[in-house]
Amino acid sequence: MSDQPARRADLRIDLGAIRHNVEVLSQRADGARTMVIVKSDGYGHGAPAVARAALSAGADSIGAASLQEALQLRAAGIDAPLLCWLYSRDDDFGPALDAGIELSASSKAVLHRIAGTAAERGVVARVHLKIDTGLCRSGCPADLWPELVEEAAKLRADGQVEVVAVWSHLACADELDHPSIDQQAARFQRAYEQARAVGLDPIRHLANSAAVLTRPDLHFELVRPGIAVYGLDPVPQHGDHGLVPAMTFRSSVALTKRVVAGESVSYGHSWTADRPVNLALVPVGYADGVPRTLSGRMSVWLGGRRRPVVGRVCMDQLVVLCDDDEVAEGDEVVLFGPGDRGEPTAAEWADEIGTIHYEIVTGMYRPRVTRTVVGEAS
Ligand SMILES: *Cc1c(COP(=O)(O)O)cnc(C)c1O
Repeated sequence: MSDQPARRADLRIDLGAIRHNVEVLSQRADGARTMVIVKSDGYGHGAPAVARAALSAGADSIGAASLQEALQLRAAGIDAPLLCWLYSRDDDFGPALDAGIELSASSKAVLHRIAGTAAERGVVARVHLKIDTGLCRSGCPADLWPELVEEAAKLRADGQVEVVAVWSHLACADELDHPSIDQQAARFQRAYEQARAVGLDPIRHLANSAAVLTRPDLHFELVRPGIAVYGLDPVPQHGDHGLVPAMTFRSSVALTKRVVAGESVSYGHSWTADRPVNLALVPVGYADGVPRTLSGRMSVWLGGRRRPVVGRVCMDQLVVLCDDDEVAEGDEVVLFGPGDRGEPTAAEWADEIGTIHYEIVTGMYRPRVTRTVVGEAS
């Protein structure tokens, strides 16, 4: 990790880790195909690079949330099967259909818009019908589902759509044995049978990362891991799955100084030296993704060990306590990483401030933070 001088605020993205995690997940999926989810710019890691690495490691397809994200992946040269599922009312399906992007439909209204646009463009839309099995977010409510699948069967007979899949999303897959999982699975099965009953022959997909790792009975023909691809485990209580975090957040020491006992550090003077100490200034702050709520509750990896951050985390700076150790300007500082050398992890940050590692990594990439991609995409 000290292969290059650390920049001011840099996310090092290890595509070797992405490839490794995809291999672990494909092995777990045991025969089911793998759609790697790269929404929100690949959970902050960079969607096109992650997609390329994942596909070369054996993933079959890519999933993104919005139409815009899917189109950006096509523009970046990702030509694998690609699904997206989040639209607003004035989104135009035309460019996505031209680009061969597969579209989710949760209602007859959206299905008709997709089919109508496909007819105008002279293409057959590849559609995934989404059933709400209990997350109560997107997806078709069960009482409207029979009408939706009937309509889809008609449009299919007219040659306007191809129904690729019936799919749904789990609410509590990260809580092992949560009763909602089996209930959602039963509702999913029923929705699938209703689709078959009107003559459709779709594949099924339901499993997110947690279900890929813990519920082989719910893998069906395709699984949709996201967070685990990035090496963050959604079910650590289920054992070590051998995932490797792909993101390391680094900076370097900008200034060192020695202060006498009684001097206080940073806004609000929340920390006071009780002895003479060396301090190291690190030029990153909450504008670079370090939560201000970690003030007084975080450490960094610097000079071969963990050292506490003292005083408030500011917008652009934080201060590390180095006791009597000599650290130098330019020395690498690891704010979080895979954890294998002893550095903090994104999961530790999340636990400390009461959120999930998903939110930490997706919040890291900002205009003034750089990303350095290492490791081979293929
Ligand atoms: C985000 C998402 C996933 C992946 O979930 P993880 O918990 O990150 O594995 C799968 N399917 C849908 C519909 C999603 O929105």
